[in-house]
Amino acid sequence: MTRVLVLGAGVVGMTSAHALAKRGFEVFVLDAASGPAQAGASFGNGAQLSYFYTDAMASPSLALNIPKYILGLDPAFRISLSLSPSFMFWALRFLGNSTQKAFERNTTDVLELALQSRAGIAELSSKIKFDYTSNGKVTLFSSKESLRKAERLTQIKNRYGAGQIVLTQEQSLEREPALKHYGHSFAGAIWSPYDEAGDARLFCRNLRILLERDYGVQFLFNTKVLGVRRQAKKLVAVITEKEEIQCSRAVMSLGANTRLIARTAGIWLPIWPVQGYSFTIPAFDAAPRASITDTFRKTVFCRIGDRLRVAGLADIAPAGGKFREDRFFTLLATARGIFPRAGDYDGELNAWTGFRPVTPNSKPIVGRTKIEGLYLNCGHGSLGWTLSMATGSALADVIACPAN
Ligand SMILES: Cc1cc2nc3c(=O)[nH]c(=O)nc-3n(C[C@H](O)[C@H](O)[C@H](O)COP(=O)(O)OP(=O)(O)OC[C@H]3O[C@@H](n4cnc5c(N)ncnc54)[C@H](O)[C@@H]3O)c2cc1C
Repeated sequence: MTRVLVLGAGVVGMTSAHALAKRGFEVFVLDAASGPAQAGASFGNGAQLSYFYTDAMASPSLALNIPKYILGLDPAFRISLSLSPSFMFWALRFLGNSTQKAFERNTTDVLELALQSRAGIAELSSKIKFDYTSNGKVTLFSSKESLRKAERLTQIKNRYGAGQIVLTQEQSLEREPALKHYGHSFAGAIWSPYDEAGDARLFCRNLRILLERDYGVQFLFNTKVLGVRRQAKKLVAVITEKEEIQCSRAVMSLGANTRLIARTAGIWLPIWPVQGYSFTIPAFDAAPRASITDTFRKTVFCRIGDRLRVAGLADIAPAGGKFREDRFFTLLATARGIFPRAGDYDGELNAWTGFRPVTPNSKPIVGRTKIEGLYLNCGHGSLGWTLSMATGSALADVIACPAN
């Protein structure tokens, strides 16, 4: 059996391990943390399986608002400028993807990937538990203008079977009665019936059990990867803090850190960390059943069992950014303003921060590298869980079939 080392046990590493094990590889997963999805972006993300809200991050409206984001005038979005070559390399390409044409192309490319993922998630939902629900999603728009722009994209998405419907304010209330407690006014909404939700961390934890039991996948936690060793153009080992592990095949799925480890092999990846925050509280009866995305305030609400996950903020962050209390309290205040009665905001908040590994075109990077035996599955941005089953499968196809 051919052995493959998967570096990283976030949702992308775990689904890569699953796809590889299903194709008969002997899989070995390494992670610096003490368990799957314990330390990275998969731990406390927005909990949405957002198959039809795949809008690329680089867009004309984002480009228009850059001065506001740099000056810190938008509570939900910040840009910390850096003159480092790696930031400039990323930022210029990101800007190049901000035209309407590139935005629509990137959004639909990611949508196609999300649709491939959907069947895989549904299949796994019959094997592992992860508080999976299929309650659809309501995306709220504060102005008629923003709703009108989104409507155009809805028409494109509906060609892919999104089944999205534009709702007036009254129709939105009928669809999601919790909106009667919404703290602001809104112009209308888009109803996306096929979007789903669940707990990505629980998904990874239970997937580990399945992988160990059904496929004999082995896990090595508390093991930090420092780099990779190559000879000529071939991978020979993965260097960890504890030891060097000899191997001829490895996959880098280290989330926002992939960029740093790839550099040890002379590979420059256009991935930049975009920091977000979340908290998870007991849900009250007035919490929405469907997932909610408030586009103006860039905040998502999602029920996970009897809990409510609230996630938001996008800080194009300096590498190695830390949890910032002021930013977390911005999210908390924003959430209270949106749905004041949805959950227990005064108890244990389970505050969390994580880094979206964002590429300039919002598309993940999957496949081989210039080093023989070294593969990538990274750069999943704001939709890592949603896309993970598709990219895991694409990666396994490449490794299984050297001619691909
Ligand atoms: C606020 C927020 C909300 C989000 N909401 C959603 C959502 O609703 N739906 C969705 O689909 N996606 C969402 N995302 C995006 C999604 O969470 C990420 O795209 C996804 O988790 C990336 O998965 P990953 O496995 O690539 O990286 P990670 O989950 O970050 O996993 C990387 C793993 O690598 C390990 N690692 C890192 N460096 C090393 C090293 N040197 N040595 C060993 N191990 C290492 C880490 O411990 C970690 O386990 C959100 C992200 C954020 C931040």
